[in-house]
Amino acid sequence: MTQWVYGFGGGSADGDASMKNLLGGKGANLAEMSSLGLPVPPGFTITTEVCTHYYANGETYPADLEAQVKTALDKVEAIVGKTFGDVNNPLLVSVRSGARASMPGMMDTVLNLGLNDQTVEGLARLSGDRRFAFDSYRRFITMYSNVVLGLSHDDFEEVLDAHKDRLGVSVDTDLKAEDWERVVEDYKAVVERELGHPFPQDPRDQMWGAVGAVFASWMNERAKFYRRMHDIPESWGTAVSVQSMVFGNMGETSATGVAFTRNPSTGEARLYGEFLINAQGEDVVAGIRTPQSLTRIGREEMGETAPSMEEAMPEVFGQFVEVVNKLESHYRDMQDIEFTVEQGRLWMLQTRNGKRTAKSALKVAVDLAAEGVITQEEAISRVEPSALDQLLHPTLDPEAVRTVIAAGLPASPGAATGKIVFDADEAERLAGLGEAVILVREETSPEDIHGMHAARGIVTARGGMTSHAAVVARGMGRACVSGAGEIHIDEAKGVFTARGRTFKAGEVITIDGSKGEVLDGAVAMIEPELTGDFQTLMAWADKVRRLKVRANAETPLDAKTARGFGAEGIGLCRTEHMFFDDTRIAAVREMILADDEAGRRTALAKIAPFQKSDFVELFEIMTGLPVTVRLLDPPLHEFIPHTDEDIDALAASSGIDADKLKRRAKELHETNPMLGHRGCRLGVAYPEIYEMQVRAVLEAALEVKKTSGQAPIPEIMHPLVALGLEMKYLRELTDRTAKAVFADAGDSVEYLVGTMIELPRAAIRAGDLAEYAQFFSFGTNDLTQTTFGISRDDSGRFLQAYLDKGIFETDPFVRLDQDGVGGLIEIAAERGRAVRPDVKLGICGEHGGDPSSIAFCEKAGLDYVSCSPYRVPIARLAAAQAALNVEREKDR
Ligand code: ADP
Ligand code: MG
Ligand code: MG
Repeated sequence: MTQWVYGFGGGSADGDASMKNLLGGKGANLAEMSSLGLPVPPGFTITTEVCTHYYANGETYPADLEAQVKTALDKVEAIVGKTFGDVNNPLLVSVRSGARASMPGMMDTVLNLGLNDQTVEGLARLSGDRRFAFDSYRRFITMYSNVVLGLSHDDFEEVLDAHKDRLGVSVDTDLKAEDWERVVEDYKAVVERELGHPFPQDPRDQMWGAVGAVFASWMNERAKFYRRMHDIPESWGTAVSVQSMVFGNMGETSATGVAFTRNPSTGEARLYGEFLINAQGEDVVAGIRTPQSLTRIGREEMGETAPSMEEAMPEVFGQFVEVVNKLESHYRDMQDIEFTVEQGRLWMLQTRNGKRTAKSALKVAVDLAAEGVITQEEAISRVEPSALDQLLHPTLDPEAVRTVIAAGLPASPGAATGKIVFDADEAERLAGLGEAVILVREETSPEDIHGMHAARGIVTARGGMTSHAAVVARGMGRACVSGAGEIHIDEAKGVFTARGRTFKAGEVITIDGSKGEVLDGAVAMIEPELTGDFQTLMAWADKVRRLKVRANAETPLDAKTARGFGAEGIGLCRTEHMFFDDTRIAAVREMILADDEAGRRTALAKIAPFQKSDFVELFEIMTGLPVTVRLLDPPLHEFIPHTDEDIDALAASSGIDADKLKRRAKELHETNPMLGHRGCRLGVAYPEIYEMQVRAVLEAALEVKKTSGQAPIPEIMHPLVALGLEMKYLRELTDRTAKAVFADAGDSVEYLVGTMIELPRAAIRAGDLAEYAQFFSFGTNDLTQTTFGISRDDSGRFLQAYLDKGIFETDPFVRLDQDGVGGLIEIAAERGRAVRPDVKLGICGEHGGDPSSIAFCEKAGLDYVSCSPYRVPIARLAAAQAALNVEREKDR
């Protein structure tokens, strides 16, 4: 018999933290906390397998589920000493969702389930607090109607507002028992009016309704979007936890809150979080009331006057700190914790490894290693390489003039500039057009996720540091200012006002998520300084990494950035940008238009000094390091203008006859330039072009050797080679030219000649190439195109359909297709090495900066990866993690 239901509570549990796949993260950790002896309200978890079964079997449950739920519920009743549905002594429960990976806000929790017209009276008698009982009931009706019955919150808000107006009060806490009773009556009427049937009164119906809603929510649009964004497979499913209720809304000695064992923005090793007195569950997260700090220091830093939990309830706070410390040392990582205090008694409702910014991730990892809680190697594995991206980008220049238009909370660090938008769909639309936007909302909800993702930054007028906006923004690495109460949004007019000024949609603002400020206009930014924890972790990573990391760079600026980020050379310098440059394009065009070799050589002689000085600059930045220079690759027609207008302009500026230009453009036209006269085919047809380039590279190397005393190591790379004899021809061309250069100079430098592997034939016949090539660099952009026969530029039209249908799991231009393209790489590596054991192997496509592709390169035994300068640190960390994983696998 399959066990579909796992109980927890009363000091023990059926499951534990290792069972996340089956129990979901929430359920597994509730079980673990129970077993640790922490105060957890008892309950049970229905497994993710039930969700899978539900969708595999026409949305039905396994036959024995109901019986197992009954047994589990009996146990909970026994521990709590209350009975579900009992009129005098009712057990109330929450129904909570939980997938393997936490999906914040994706699936909704229903609290106070089990209340109806009779049990609410029982609750009132039992608690001696009628107001509390009806407050709980109205909350339940709202949540259940929204989550399970699909009604809008607004219907209920309206009713509540009408009551408040009638009573002349403004806050919920001013409503008395009889007021809530009347609200409840009206709420039930709303349900009946909207749905044509009464609010469900049978607790068992309520429970199964809620369980079904959780499973249904696994397939809602928000959840699907989140899964797509985070690569979470649909097959995982969600678990459902049913848990006995504890109440944070039972007066002034009750409260509910959220805590992080360390600061999730900065990583500072200090308890951090918020709570609300006399409140229930999602009040804190939803931003309905502004929460108070947990600690006194926290309160002082935020300049708040309302007492912290430390001050308001010192005794429970003391217990809480103990529990929190226990949890962190047990899980050996920063925890994100939810708790409730019911009449002075502490209850733990959730713990999980806390989401954090890159900055915080680094600090927490480095600190935990320093504290001896984890090893240096674990610290390396704790930081998501791609999250480093957040740290590598500019922040606001402290010297820049800043006009603060509103202040709020520093909810997610980083800076962003963009146009104001008030609507998530609009944010997505504009971002799709390449616009930078800042999403400005009263508060955000899960419906806004796509807009938050599309925006550079997020501002909310309401909500705390743990509001939806703050949590999601930190997870996504978006800058966010939350709770900027000075901002008053008028969505209908498309404006907000703040400090007496009005800002329209489309106007540019800047936000400083580290300070919590919204600023007028675009504010100057500066490059980040990568010191401290970053340097420490990188140094640890460099110790364990085997793969070298180089950068793709051709401009001195890119080369400098790359070296600053720790690049160990250049893996790909594309020489064509040097041809495209404005100052040289005339000479380049003269070369292309030349009728014969002599004419071409004359033009090339004009280009040569530019080429050489470019290489000198690059080599000076990369002294002592290898620099792979790829000879001219694009088809010649790319250098000639095509429209009549452009041709006339060129004719006027160059003095070349417009008709001649047109004729040449026509001659050079190709049906399929991708597969046309490009790459080394140019070098074979017009060897003088490559000769000039080789000469420029080597003369530059000789010059830098002379001036700096240290020679660079040029690696001359021939693109798009397919045949052994092509490679032979190009090797001879290169060596012959080098010999001449060295003879002229009376000096020489070390250099290598190799090829880029971009064609399936080159990979399969790599042995032939290795006879003449001293290195292979896998150009995985083109190799992906040529292996699939898909043009990357045209793939946009159909790729999405492939992704939606699950035929492609990920975009093969982003993540290396390890089976196909990777298979060719493995073949080429093996066959190349068989002929030339020391053939140097690297990868220089976009994939060189993608962590999972880097893991593949480690396994395939390549020597280096090369990526764009800003991805160099990401690649260093990913390479270290890959090396550790390979080692770990060997140990197994
Ligand atoms: P989410 O995944 O959105 O965080 P949760 O299931 O954690 O949803 O529920 C949200 C909040 O509801 C919790 O933080 C907690 O405050 C409250 N809650 C959930 N279960 C209970 C319970 N059994 N008793 C009291 N409050 C609860
Ligand atoms: Mg929720
Ligand atoms: Mg939660």
